[in-house]
Amino acid sequence: MDEPTKLHIHNVSKIYRSDGQEVLAIDEIDLKIKNKEFATILGPSGCGKSTLLRIVAGLIKPTRGIVRLDGNVITRPGQDRGMVFQSYTLFPWLTVTENIQFGLEISGMQKAKQGQIAQEFVEKVGLKGFEKTYPRGLSGGMKQRVAIARALANNPAILLLDEPFGALDAQTRALMQELLTQIWEELHKTILFVTHDVEEAIFLSDRVFIMTARPGKIKAEIDIPLERPRGYEIKATESFLNLKKHALALIREEAIKATQYK
Ligand code: ADP
Ligand code: MG
Repeated sequence: MDEPTKLHIHNVSKIYRSDGQEVLAIDEIDLKIKNKEFATILGPSGCGKSTLLRIVAGLIKPTRGIVRLDGNVITRPGQDRGMVFQSYTLFPWLTVTENIQFGLEISGMQKAKQGQIAQEFVEKVGLKGFEKTYPRGLSGGMKQRVAIARALANNPAILLLDEPFGALDAQTRALMQELLTQIWEELHKTILFVTHDVEEAIFLSDRVFIMTARPGKIKAEIDIPLERPRGYEIKATESFLNLKKHALALIREEAIKATQYK
């Protein structure tokens, strides 16, 4: 891929300070995500994945280092970054369509245009017929479909997803992975995805960055040359399983270290 750098995480470290204690969460992370790339950060629980993504989102500040998106230093949250979290973050008092339109409304877009874009994304995430439903009437998977649609509707420069399928059952999770793959193959948005799930990382990504146990550093980078479009069948192919074996061995060492903190 000869695409230019979209996101540059440049020598970023984060120390949390609370009650006189210091925790080095991430240590000198340096990585470049290319335009239109699907990149995943894979690491054991507590290694600093959310910390890194929150820094990119502008929700917290790095202790050292900077992050540039399209060359501009990130200092605060912005509409150029769409964010999807593990926990459901929909507004309970708004319908599916109203949730998806929320950012467009704030940006002052004309109503008819808002409706048109919201409908387009309702359909892309497979929620036709649920436009007027409130979040309480949706399953977990459907809520995450809305969250993805809401993030994409704003046409962000990059989409940031922090374990978005972590709370879903295995079958729903697999379906959501397929949906996200299809959407990515259609829109080619730059995506930075975070997960602790090896299979999920390989299935979705062009490139997987493996983190060490805390303090989180980048331990390895794996290219995923699997052909696209990708369907669930690919998970049983020899090339997929070889990549999985390689990644599992790397992540396992870190998972063991991570348990030793507890
Ligand atoms: P991950 O998302 O990979 O599970 P996190 O980024 O949430 O990891 O956390 C990395 C480390 O930083 C953990 O040890 C966690 O306890 C610590 N940590 C996270 N947030 C804070 C905070 N606000 N204050 C102090 N320590 C924190
Ligand atoms: Mg996390």
